[in-house]
Amino acid sequence: MELGFKGKRALVTGGTRGIGRAVTLGLASAGATVVAVNREDNDDAESLRKELADLGGTVVHADVTVAADVARLAETCRTELGGLDVLVNNAGVHGHTPLAELDLAEWTRLIDTDLTSMFLVTQACVPLLAEGASVVNVGASAAFRGMAGTAHYTAAKAGVVGLTRSLCKEFGGIRVNTIAPGVINTGDELPPPVAERVKRMTALGRLGTPEEVAGAVLFLASDLSTYVTGALLAVDGGM
Ligand code: NDP
Repeated sequence: MELGFKGKRALVTGGTRGIGRAVTLGLASAGATVVAVNREDNDDAESLRKELADLGGTVVHADVTVAADVARLAETCRTELGGLDVLVNNAGVHGHTPLAELDLAEWTRLIDTDLTSMFLVTQACVPLLAEGASVVNVGASAAFRGMAGTAHYTAAKAGVVGLTRSLCKEFGGIRVNTIAPGVINTGDELPPPVAERVKRMTALGRLGTPEEVAGAVLFLASDLSTYVTGALLAVDGGM
């Protein structure tokens, strides 16, 4: 059985860092041409651009919460790639603010980045998605447990599941699934007591790696999962 990425075209939002970077490099290493997205030119974007020059792909800057940026991004995918076989809606931000201190601007920032961006990018890319294409939305397993101080984050991530479930029925031959990571070590160090507490919450007794999440994303994007749609796959070490 083959992953089937040779000659495929992929778009990965938030593809320059953390989980998105591992997904981008995983897809490109498996033969796909990848457009990775972040907001502006920085060291991460520059270093990824260099890595993709050999593997196949490029980095494009767009704020996925801004409709005009997303329209430009979709147009770039049309002109550069001619269409898309894989869309990974990964860009997102984390937030930690108790409800009493949560103002509307911070609520909106989380909902816009973690949920509305998926609506904007997916809608703009629909005309580009080939029959049999796969959309993978990155949610969070915290959305199903709840976590104090993250009502805005978990509300947005729970919304990703509803978006996925409805779109898989609306799209038919285009598959749509959700990945729900647990706590992943992306280089942003957690305070040691918090990291120890999170590790104890997992069956595997450790944090995950970006590559372990990328493996699950690649499965859902690949020919190994052609009868999987509308699914929610937790990648959280058994929390
Ligand atoms: P990082 O913070 O490491 O990277 C986020 C990426 O998203 C960067 O490339 C950033 O680019 C990009 N990005 C953020 N906002 C925008 C925007 N408005 N427009 C375009 N690009 C944007 O993220 P992680 O790897 O930690 O997380 C990736 C996904 O996984 C997120 O959806 C997150 O919620 C989810 N997740 C992560 C977990 C974890 O433990 N890390 C746990 C559960 C879920 P730049 O800043 O350069 O513009």
